[in-house]
Parts: sequence; C-alpha cells; structure tokens
Amino acid sequence: MTEPLLNYASASPFAGQPDVFARNGLLWARNNASLPQCCMTCGAPADTPPLALHFTWDESFRFSRANTLKLRNAVTIHGYLCPAHRRRHRRAKFLGLAGMVVAAFICAAAGLAAVISESATVPRYTIPALWITFAAFALLIVFAFVLALGTRTITCVRIEDGYGAFDDVSPDLLKSLPQVA
Ligand SMILES: [Zn+2]
Repeated sequence: MTEPLLNYASASPFAGQPDVFARNGLLWARNNASLPQCCMTCGAPADTPPLALHFTWDESFRFSRANTLKLRNAVTIHGYLCPAHRRRHRRAKFLGLAGMVVAAFICAAAGLAAVISESATVPRYTIPALWITFAAFALLIVFAFVLALGTRTITCVRIEDGYGAFDDVSPDLLKSLPQVA
C-alpha cells in the first residue's frame, strides 16, 4: 500500500456527493462536470454545445512553505448559454480580441515611429508618436476589460478537493439541482 498523496484524500468532504449540486446559494461542480443544459446566466433553454470554462483559484495564503506544491487549484466546467447570452459572449470575445490585436499593433507601430523619429537628425515626430503609443496601450487595457467582463459567465469563488463553488448562477438553474445542506 502506498500512502495517499494528500493526507485528506481518502476523507474528502465531497465523497458520495453528486457531480453538480447547490449549497448555500452556490453551485458546486466537480472538475470536468457538465452543468444542466440550460443557460448558466438566465436559466433559459440552451441548444448550442457547452462552453468549456477554466477556473483557477490561488490558495497560497492558506499554505506554508512546506507544501508549496499545491498552491494553485484549477477546475474545468462545461456550461451552457442561451442563444442571446451566447451571442453576447461571442461578440465580447471577438470585439475584445480584435481590439487588443489592433491596439497592440498601433502601439508597436507608433513606438517604432518614435524610435525612428528620435534617431533622425530632426526628431520631428517623437512626441506625437509617443502619445499615440501611450493612447494605444491604454486602449489595449480597455479591450482587455471588454474581453474579461463581456465573456464573464459564472464566478468561481472557491475550489476545494476537485470541486469548484460558483456564484452568479441563474436562480432557476440553482433550484433545479440537488440541494445539499
Ligand atoms: Zn441566458
């Protein structure tokens, strides 16, 4: 017999629990579990394929130097969105990514223009080029927020023993799950 890797592995608080359940107003789901086929956000029927959502939860504050190996927990959950929320999700992803690429390109081009201008005999364009570089960088941050906020679905508030706890879940979806005290 080999020792269990983690001393609590054999006594998981989730032993015997379903893959997905509700507790204290939060949705709990085992890693790789699929949520019921309805919109995570509004509970409406969903007929499109599920999204794979990856969540990480940093618990470094809980651990000492002795067990730095398990600082970071991660779970993947497969969840559905209704056509309307799916469209919004897709649009935010496209707009956010496209905006970030364009802003990064402008930022790099303007930065290069500033360098070229500065090495010329008369550095005519250095200051405006630097302003454009900074403005494009600010725009990059804005589009990163569009991406992060627009594609946000449910919020992971904790990960424990291979289960994730999620907030901002549709109350209808939560009500349809097995309730665990
Ligand atoms: Zn929806």
